[in-house]
Amino acid sequence: MHSPVYLDHNATTPVDARVLDAMLPFFTKNFGNASSRTHAYGWVAADAVEEARKKVAELISAEAQEIIFTSGATESINLAIKGVFENYSAKGKHIITTKTEHTTVLDCCAKLKNSGAEITYLGVDHEGKINPGELKNALRKDTILVCVMLANNETGTIQPIGEIAELVHANGSLLCSDTTQAIGKMRVDVNEMEIDLACISAHKIYGPKGSGALFIRRKDPRVTITAQVHGGGHERALRSGTLNVPGIVGLGKAAEIANEEWWNDAQRISLLRTKLEQQIQDCGNVVINGCIKDRLANTSNISILGIKADQLIPMIPNIAIATGSACTSAIPEPSHVLRAMGIDEETAFSSIRISLGKTTSEEEISFAGKEICNQIKELRY
Ligand SMILES: *Cc1c(COP(=O)(O)O)cnc(C)c1O
Repeated sequence: MHSPVYLDHNATTPVDARVLDAMLPFFTKNFGNASSRTHAYGWVAADAVEEARKKVAELISAEAQEIIFTSGATESINLAIKGVFENYSAKGKHIITTKTEHTTVLDCCAKLKNSGAEITYLGVDHEGKINPGELKNALRKDTILVCVMLANNETGTIQPIGEIAELVHANGSLLCSDTTQAIGKMRVDVNEMEIDLACISAHKIYGPKGSGALFIRRKDPRVTITAQVHGGGHERALRSGTLNVPGIVGLGKAAEIANEEWWNDAQRISLLRTKLEQQIQDCGNVVINGCIKDRLANTSNISILGIKADQLIPMIPNIAIATGSACTSAIPEPSHVLRAMGIDEETAFSSIRISLGKTTSEEEISFAGKEICNQIKELRY
């Protein structure tokens, strides 16, 4: 058992040894620039990139030409939202999103207000789901984009994306979904789900940091976006810059492994999470936040009533978990996700986020459960 026990897989994951093996030759022997068309170094790199593109596409049932490599989900989301806004602003400047999106989506939308964008933020219910009826009422003729995440990074709540897509497309708008957390943890099929733009981050699926991709639908509807990074015209001029070949190879390998193994991993992880949640619930006076029915198998957001997460976590240094709150400022803010779900400030401050991964063992879970319970008891009595 590794110490501290790592239970923060929604923040990042370790690189799978098979991914690292696939990447290594592209740092040394096969170091070529994928844009070099005049020699074998370039061809080898370019072939590896196209192989990775196919694997990433396969994971989400897309076509290889619909995948653009980026530096991660943050860049993909920036490219998607700003790229759509610039390209479709003659049609309208209205964007709809939700109050529980990742900061990246919220910050991109906020930034676009300077360029005349009008943003509608949909609320969520107590489980973290949006109300499709509210979306329907919010859609307008000038709504160009609706941005709703597939699964929430803090609670694991999964949105009814099919229902959302139907409303969005009936209105002639585009649907962008932050699928960063969902990919590798549940089935993500961009055609079945009718998603027009989706993002992926390698380091959330046992690949390297600084590597990701954006899915841009090419037909029904054909989505066109404006590039945000200009230079050598790489990635069909949508994202210039010498390709991060090792990172892309790593993303491709991680996607291939996720495609083959996610279901078995999710079954096992789900049982471990149930076990852990039961253990913590047994110490009494705790609430599980999120949608119990539609939730990622690995994520557990628990409010331990009467105890501040900031108090509890330093007392369990042998377990690596996150608080539900964001410590981006000097004064800690309660999680915007939990607050949007109608959870009061005190309960939000008492929340911890535990996220399991494919290396999480039964031994680690019983250890973590015991440690957390012991400290809760200590703090309460
Ligand atoms: C991690 C994460 C991101 C950002 O991804 P990076 O690749 O680290 O930039 C965006 N959205 C969600 C939901 C995430 O979990």
